[in-house]
Amino acid sequence: MTQSTIPAHARAVIIGGGVIGCSVAYHLAKLGWRDVVLLEQGQLSCGTTWHAAGLVGQLRSQVSMTGLIRYSTELYADLETETGLATGWQNCGSLAVARTDDRMTVLRRMAASARAHGVEVEVITAAEAGDKWPIMALDDLKGGLWLPGDGKANPTDLTQSLAKGARNCGAGIFERTKVTGIVVENRRIKAVTTDAGTINTEIIVNCAGQWARALGLRNGVNIPLHSAEHMYVVTEKIEGVQPDLPVLRDPDGYIYFKEEVGGLVMGGFEPDAKPWARDGIPEDFEFTLLPDDWEQFEILMQNAIIRVPQLADSGVRKFYNGPESFTPDNNFLLGEAPELKNYFVGAGFNSMGIASAGGAGKALAEWIVTGAPTLDLWPVDIRRFAGFNNNPNWLHDRVKETLGLHYAMPWPNRELETARALRRSPLYDRLAQKGARFGSKMGWERVNWFAGQCGSAEMSYTFQRPDWHEAVGREHRAARETAALFDQTSFGKLLVQGKDACAVLDRLCAGGMDVPVGRSVYTGMLNERGGYESDLTVLRLAEDRFLVITGSAQPVHDLDWINRHTPEDAHATVTDMTSAWSVLAVMGPNSRRILKKLTGANLSNAAFPFASVREIDLGYANVFANRMSYVGELGWELIVPTEMTVGVYEDLMRAGADEGLVDAGYYALEGLRIEKGYRAWGRELGPDLNPFEAGLSFAVDMNKPVRFIGRAALSEMGRPRFLKRRIVQFLLTDPQAMAWGGEAVLRNGVEIGEVRSAAYGHTLGGSVALALIEQETGVTDEFLVDGTYEIDLAGARVPAIAHKRTPYDPKSERVKQDD
Ligand SMILES: Cc1cc2nc3c(=O)[nH]c(=O)nc-3n(C[C@H](O)[C@H](O)[C@H](O)COP(=O)(O)OP(=O)(O)OC[C@H]3O[C@@H](n4cnc5c(N)ncnc54)[C@H](O)[C@@H]3O)c2cc1C
Repeated sequence: MTQSTIPAHARAVIIGGGVIGCSVAYHLAKLGWRDVVLLEQGQLSCGTTWHAAGLVGQLRSQVSMTGLIRYSTELYADLETETGLATGWQNCGSLAVARTDDRMTVLRRMAASARAHGVEVEVITAAEAGDKWPIMALDDLKGGLWLPGDGKANPTDLTQSLAKGARNCGAGIFERTKVTGIVVENRRIKAVTTDAGTINTEIIVNCAGQWARALGLRNGVNIPLHSAEHMYVVTEKIEGVQPDLPVLRDPDGYIYFKEEVGGLVMGGFEPDAKPWARDGIPEDFEFTLLPDDWEQFEILMQNAIIRVPQLADSGVRKFYNGPESFTPDNNFLLGEAPELKNYFVGAGFNSMGIASAGGAGKALAEWIVTGAPTLDLWPVDIRRFAGFNNNPNWLHDRVKETLGLHYAMPWPNRELETARALRRSPLYDRLAQKGARFGSKMGWERVNWFAGQCGSAEMSYTFQRPDWHEAVGREHRAARETAALFDQTSFGKLLVQGKDACAVLDRLCAGGMDVPVGRSVYTGMLNERGGYESDLTVLRLAEDRFLVITGSAQPVHDLDWINRHTPEDAHATVTDMTSAWSVLAVMGPNSRRILKKLTGANLSNAAFPFASVREIDLGYANVFANRMSYVGELGWELIVPTEMTVGVYEDLMRAGADEGLVDAGYYALEGLRIEKGYRAWGRELGPDLNPFEAGLSFAVDMNKPVRFIGRAALSEMGRPRFLKRRIVQFLLTDPQAMAWGGEAVLRNGVEIGEVRSAAYGHTLGGSVALALIEQETGVTDEFLVDGTYEIDLAGARVPAIAHKRTPYDPKSERVKQDD
């Protein structure tokens, strides 16, 4: 029964009655929040949800995302029993087929990763795929992957069933009620205004689908998504198409199929998509489709006829062209917006909203109720984006590419090509002239490697040894043997100032912050569970001034985290200074000699020890020099005013000419850091992993007087002797074998973990990997030493050696002697 009058007050108001809003309402109600209200301007599911194809595929590249969809499948299977309304869930399984050897490599890699994530999977031959899908042509196929747990749901029925479940637990759902505004006073949400009256509330959940961005902008909240046309056709009945036919994906042809009333639903993800509604969604866009576009659909149709030749003679019953919202990286947007407290978002579902709704709705509801994410949601956390990502032109151009990413080859190091070259270091042109090949992170153009004399000038993608292998090897060896200069300007830089700055940071960071001026501290910010919220270096520049250096992807998140945890009466501010300074890292045994040519500062071990920062003269400039290293060599990170960067760079290159100084990029950096066993946030480190498991207990000060966030959880664990999970370093014994990350790790032939990051270690002469190993009875040193290890490289098991400590350079960069 639909209530008719909206209440005057609600604990939380959800905007949007699509599958996502209904799932959030359902899960909030299940968590015991009774006075939750959902407002829908039209009817439930009338936006994008009603015309979805309903495919539910579990496997995602991040384990937590796979977990969310696995939960969706369980919920959709059980919901009818609870609500009496069917969801249309059918556990028909899904099949993916490969037209090329490279795609088969992808499928084999997916199979290994699926097993590591606990998803049932089987690599099958083309003939076996044909047995499961008799009407498909097999002659061009290399094989396939069978996922028996996948299925399909009916999007409208599912939405109604979730809504009923929510109502049954007390939620109020109001259709034909349009939100017209959100009232904010003193930076706090006060109320929601609608065309049917006002509801006082302190919590908003924006689940308005493709309307979410415009709604967010009204309160200064960035929700970077853009609509794109998305299409499928439904055919007349086709002989041989049975109701229990599995879902079929043929990613090399950009297409998918599912059975519907004896015919086929055939749709896909064309590589060059068609963004829609740049100037806003038209009024009353309800149960509405866009005009058929057979020209845009042609690439999908041609490929579909290759796979199912009968389609050439089958009639099309209906063409569905519906807009869906896509985001800059093809992952959805979840969580509390950094711009406004208690403004939550669940939007931008990139044609995965039906599959994701169950898990995403539960995760967002838990975030709202507990005030923090309850699992690692970083891949979808709205704070991974910055304001520039919400620029409409930028979004428009990027979305043309992201829609097609669904079925694009997931090559290692694959770079997005659209909306590029926006954020550039002052050295960009100079480095480009020197053969730099750029990648992109958080909008920054960053050098991956320098083409130089050896290797290809262009980015070539492969799972094998790439063209740039030798070029990167040259940079790697320079960092180890002479010196290398890395432009790390994209680092996030947050200035925390005020007389309470030390106290604020001491509560946020696991390491001791009350250090003498001139010390730099490598540490982490932890959540209440003891997991990593960020991994950073904090430089004490003055009694009341700290510079927090964080990863390129993290400044929005970290700024938000610091702000949220700064008491209102504290005398401390945090300012994002990322654009004010460049970072030039001079690393390698000759780095001290190079810098000495340019500065009068004393760079000796005694005067300038490891983990210290000084303001020094360098040529004509004054810079902060931080003695830290992410490559495991003697070196300094130079923090240079942006406008002086080119001058400082030219001085450094001149001074380094006789010292073997070379320009180096991020690919070399990756190999150097993994060889040395250094962890990276977003790869090894994340909200679900604590410093003990990460092997970083040295960066935690359990004895400092301040009770830092996460301390209670860590002390409860009591520095456990038997860690059930641990980051472990591996070296592959075959020097030709290439690991890239995401591979399964086997111990004595049994899957035991997953590689989080991997690269070629040019000093150790093989692929090096950092993997998360899990064992219920404890990953003890004895357990590690006893095992025989292999890494699954697309079905080929390559022996690997587990190392408790890095096999490289026992003589640490901390004790490098003076020249
Ligand atoms: C052709 C096509 C095929 C698809 N196939 C699949 C598939 O196979 N599998 C899959 O997982 N996903 C698929 N999807 C994607 C899926 O449909 C979406 O991801 C999902 O429906 C998004 O749900 P939502 O709740 O975020 O958005 P919507 O369903 O659009 O809901 C948002 C709601 O907010 C309401 N609203 C907006 N503004 C206001 C306001 N001011 N006040 C009140 N209400 C407001 C709107 O009316 C709308 O009903 C497909 C999409 C398309 C277009």
